[in-house]
Amino acid sequence: MKHFALSALERLRCPELLETRAFIDGQWIEGESRLPVVDPATGMVIAQVAHCDVKWMDKAVDAATQAFVLWRDRLPAERGAILRRWATLCREHAADLATLMTAEQGKPLNESLGEIEYGAGFLGWFAADGERSYGESIPSHLPGSQLTTKMQPIGVTAAITPWNFPMAMITRKAGAALAAGCSMIIKPASETPLSALALAKLAEQAGVPAGVFQVITGDAQILSARLMQRPEVRAFSFTGSTQIGRQLLAQSAQTLKKVSLELGGHAPFIVFDDASLEGAVVGCIGAKFATSGQDCLAANRIYIQRGLYAPFVQAFSEATARLKLGHGLEDGVDIGPMTRLSVANKCRDQIGNALSLGARLTVGGEECGLGASFVTPTVLADVTDEMDIAIEETFGPVAALLPFDSEEEVLRRANSTEYGLAAYVYTNDLRRAARVSDRLEFGMVALNTARFTGPPIPFGGWKQSGLGREGSRHGLAEYMELKYVCVGSL
Ligand code: NAP
Repeated sequence: MKHFALSALERLRCPELLETRAFIDGQWIEGESRLPVVDPATGMVIAQVAHCDVKWMDKAVDAATQAFVLWRDRLPAERGAILRRWATLCREHAADLATLMTAEQGKPLNESLGEIEYGAGFLGWFAADGERSYGESIPSHLPGSQLTTKMQPIGVTAAITPWNFPMAMITRKAGAALAAGCSMIIKPASETPLSALALAKLAEQAGVPAGVFQVITGDAQILSARLMQRPEVRAFSFTGSTQIGRQLLAQSAQTLKKVSLELGGHAPFIVFDDASLEGAVVGCIGAKFATSGQDCLAANRIYIQRGLYAPFVQAFSEATARLKLGHGLEDGVDIGPMTRLSVANKCRDQIGNALSLGARLTVGGEECGLGASFVTPTVLADVTDEMDIAIEETFGPVAALLPFDSEEEVLRRANSTEYGLAAYVYTNDLRRAARVSDRLEFGMVALNTARFTGPPIPFGGWKQSGLGREGSRHGLAEYMELKYVCVGSL
């Protein structure tokens, strides 16, 4: 396992996609020192990327400010053509981009390939939506006046992105910002800068002008503090933990930026007695274990109605036991390492806490012998609301199964969290489906399916899961300002 990532990187079809310099104002920058990037499966250093100090953030904001003026004035169709070329290049280089992603993030290669397609989809989708950002004509209340609105790009924008989706969380933001006519500066997560820098390489090839899309690597706290001080940055988007999201929102108040936040989740997955057992188990395996469980949409509290509880525990445990753990570059692997060791340790702590309070282990729980970053897919049955796993986001391959009796009860328990990102419901009763989806306090509800994301949908959460939406026409609006124009009679 030791050399998987390094030897795969040596065999890239297009070696220049392994870029380690930051991309500022169309230049590739070495930075002041280097930041190691490791293969999370082995802990081996696979690259050293630029560590940029704060002066580079100032240069990036200056470049983005100049570039915005020219980019804003391009026709939407011209911007769209560049975004479509960028998407095409991502697809042409999908094998290399997926290898880079698995090497630094750890997810199985087929999931990385899936993310390249998902991520490229946002570029194409926003290319088209940017061409349709219509205003409106308002019936006038003033004699002889014409009242209209138009949507205009907000200006320079910036984003801080996480390590679990190293490419798609960038294109979901940058696709919208660039299509709207804005420039954007990205600070990727320190664990996964290679995917972001390869994306910048392809943006350059696609013809994105200098300063319109920039990637800066370095200390998150220092760089973001500077970003927040610069009034030219009019909109800011963050995907990551709720704790850091709150801090950034507070910092952004000093220059009153438009902020969108995609934060933590703690998704309930509710299965009623009348649901298809097979469908619910298949859906739940996907919703729990995709991205090795490191997903804001991951099913974190799996509520099963009493009549289906025992068969569900058995079928779900059997399906979980079949999942293969290993290096993401190995064939047939379903679950890779945890990208951050702290996440693996949190999984172990949650398992220990649940067992000490009476949960029942049906699968996993033991060390797998592959190293500290690997967590054996684990199922805990008879979990109760007092256990840590029922209260906090897990972010790893540990499933918590909780029995329930009534619809009223499960709604109360599902909603009793500060999070409100996604919820899943499995039932064959149409009226119940309508009632329950209406009363769940979550930004997204999936009924009888675990697959629902993609460019056309408004992705986002309620309560402490965030502010604003990404994807869909709502995602484009995050990077635009509404202008009202009143034309008086001459
Ligand atoms: P994180 O620790 O908050 O880090 C996310 C980003 O914030 C990274 O780029 C990180 O940079 C940066 N950062 C860390 N500390 C910072 C600070 N003091 N000031 C400014 N930036 C800072 O979150 P994570 O662990 O990477 O991501 C997992 C969380 O993201 C989970 O809670 C998950 O649910 C959430 N998530 C939400 C969505 C959604 O769409 N709602 C999608 C994916 C993930 P460094 O890496 O350089 O520290």
